[in-house]
Amino acid sequence: MDIGFSPEETRFREECRDWLHASVPTEKRPLDAADAIGFDKAWQRRLFDAGWAGINWPSKYGGRGLSIVQQVIWLEEYAAAHAPWIGANFVGINHGGPTLILNASEEQKAYHLPRILKGEAIWCQGFSEPGAGSDLAGIKTRGRIEGEELVINGSKIWTSFAHVADWQELVLRTEEGSLRHKGLSWVICDMHAPGITVRPIRKMSGQTEFAEVFYDDVRIPLAKVVGGLGNGWKVAMSTLSFERGTGFIADQVKQSQEIEELIAAARANGMIKDDRIADSLAQLRAEVAAVRAMTYRNISEVLRTDQPGPEASVIRLFTSELGQRLERIAVLLMGEAIIDFAYGDDNPVGDYLRGFAATIAGGTAQIQRDIIGERLLGLPKSR
Ligand SMILES: Cc1cc2nc3c(=O)[nH]c(=O)nc-3n(C[C@H](O)[C@H](O)[C@H](O)COP(=O)(O)OP(=O)(O)OC[C@H]3O[C@@H](n4cnc5c(N)ncnc54)[C@H](O)[C@@H]3O)c2cc1C
Repeated sequence: MDIGFSPEETRFREECRDWLHASVPTEKRPLDAADAIGFDKAWQRRLFDAGWAGINWPSKYGGRGLSIVQQVIWLEEYAAAHAPWIGANFVGINHGGPTLILNASEEQKAYHLPRILKGEAIWCQGFSEPGAGSDLAGIKTRGRIEGEELVINGSKIWTSFAHVADWQELVLRTEEGSLRHKGLSWVICDMHAPGITVRPIRKMSGQTEFAEVFYDDVRIPLAKVVGGLGNGWKVAMSTLSFERGTGFIADQVKQSQEIEELIAAARANGMIKDDRIADSLAQLRAEVAAVRAMTYRNISEVLRTDQPGPEASVIRLFTSELGQRLERIAVLLMGEAIIDFAYGDDNPVGDYLRGFAATIAGGTAQIQRDIIGERLLGLPKSR
């Protein structure tokens, strides 16, 4: 077994590094979704034009058709270069697009995939509802079939980037009277369709990054159903596996950078001399190495199967909790400077506060533990 990088991959890494070194924007990405949308679209377009968007997406849809290993190399160099978060393009690039590649019709792929890669079409995810966040099978938003259209009524909540999105991966109930995971469909919903109302939600940091979405007789052509009517559960599971697995590679890469920066900061301000701090930093460095190893293992799995399995939950859970531990120590290392932090700013305190969302979004830590227990360890069902 060869676990190193090939000469071709090493050359690719150098190519990534050179381009990023010359091209990463010097200005900061605005924090509020509405302010950042121009920045996000322009940066994505720049990545696309230079051939760095969709490295492992099929070339006939605008990708590079390279391997997932090369995608990871790109993400490693991306984080090392302190390149900006892809922001509003997150859903399209990380799980909307990959779900389409796996499940959509040729026509759907040909239309949507290049637009996602070019940053022309912003996607959002309409899964959670009031009363059905963790329990996706409990959703109530429904789509009544009328001729060649679905007529949609209901509401979604916590929809990140809904107020700036063009399309939505929407899961709804299309079979009257169906229960739980049966009778659901995964639909490409036009966010500009008449009958859609988006109401942004303000977070404790003052920013608006997610919203409530209301559907009042919204008409969407049946041709927008992905993977067939009634197959929404299966398609949604593939979306979640991308969201929980490969979608977070960039975060895991960033964490290895963060821990080295924290160690350097503790050395610089002398706090490393405190044994408890030195121990915590050493422990975190070991955990970061562990999550990197798990990520490489997960990538080998994706190489074999084209899709991350339930193992993705291990990585998702570990990454989100590790992120919180890293952010906690980053705040500690700020010492007295913490008193002067500006609320909502991009600083360790902002990262610390944002970190709370990491063990909720994309499935809570408890739900990931359930999946690990039941689907990986074969333990009895919790309910
Ligand atoms: C920053 C952020 C962005 C988000 N973006 C999106 C988005 O773009 N699109 C989208 O659809 N959703 C999004 N969400 C919503 C997110 O997916 C849900 O909040 C999450 O799935 C939890 O659902 P809930 O809030 O309804 O909580 P609930 O499901 O009501 O859970 C409440 C508590 O009960 C626990 N719990 C529930 N069921 C079980 C169980 N079976 N076993 C053990 N414990 C359980 C949970 O872990 C949690 O602690 C986002 C959330 C956040 C924080």
